[in-house]
Amino acid sequence: MDLGLKGKVAVITGGSVGIGLGVAKAFAAEGADVVIAARDGARAEEEAAGIRAAHGVRALAVAADVATAAGCAALVSAVQGFGGCDILVNNAGTGSNETILEADDDKWLEYWNLHVMAAVRLARGLVPMMKTRGGGAILNNASICAVQPLWYEPIYNVTKAALLMLSKTMSTEFIKDNIRVNTVNPGLILTPDWVKTAKQLSAPTGGDWEGYLQSVADEHAPIKRFGTVEELADFFVFLCSPRASYCTGATFHVDGGMLKSV
Ligand code: NDP
Repeated sequence: MDLGLKGKVAVITGGSVGIGLGVAKAFAAEGADVVIAARDGARAEEEAAGIRAAHGVRALAVAADVATAAGCAALVSAVQGFGGCDILVNNAGTGSNETILEADDDKWLEYWNLHVMAAVRLARGLVPMMKTRGGGAILNNASICAVQPLWYEPIYNVTKAALLMLSKTMSTEFIKDNIRVNTVNPGLILTPDWVKTAKQLSAPTGGDWEGYLQSVADEHAPIKRFGTVEELADFFVFLCSPRASYCTGATFHVDGGMLKSV
């Protein structure tokens, strides 16, 4: 299936590793140019160089902390210099670990800035560019925790849930400009960070990190395995493509059956 993405420009926050990198590579494989943003500019540049070499597309790395207004402004300015964009994937994010009684205001605000305000600020900067190109697509990467919370990460659950509502609200505001906005809630996706965590947690009991990951999958996902970055990335790229032209304002679960409700 030709997804019609050749020559389009996709901006992916958190595009230097894990899901974001997989999404950037999947866009590039369809002939799209990519802009990948992350705080660690050297790692982002290394991956952008790999994408240019592997796919022959333009790939720009931008060092930016999208949890700050200045970082979002730097990314918007870099995208302007790149010639504009058609697609934005708000992917940068991270889990948390706290209780509501113990976490201070600063921690709440840090995650609010990363999971919600980044999407607001980048929309303010990038939607006008999409409009001049006749439309586009925004994909917000939330989490199954937005609707099915894990007890140990209340700040993650709440800020990802807020991203769902932001996404829905954006979709109604932006569709008049032919910009579609959707959310994906992934379940367990095997990234290098999961492998690192599994190695750390299994080390005291013999180091069977693969067994640890299997136990997590067995407990949470009826499909009894983690999803691969590639499986998720294919879905992201399809949703952002013109082939998904009637999809907007929707939340899609890519979770191996982890969601317990209909
Ligand atoms: P990783 O930790 O592997 O990668 C995170 C990426 O985001 C990196 O590129 C990191 O680069 C970047 N990043 C983090 N903070 C910032 C920031 N403030 N500004 C700019 N870039 C930032 O994460 P995953 O690939 O696992 O997850 C990606 C998204 O998917 C997250 O939003 C996560 O919540 C969501 N998700 C993941 C699941 C999973 O099982 N993996 C399940 C459900 C949702 P750098 O550190 O250099 O800034």
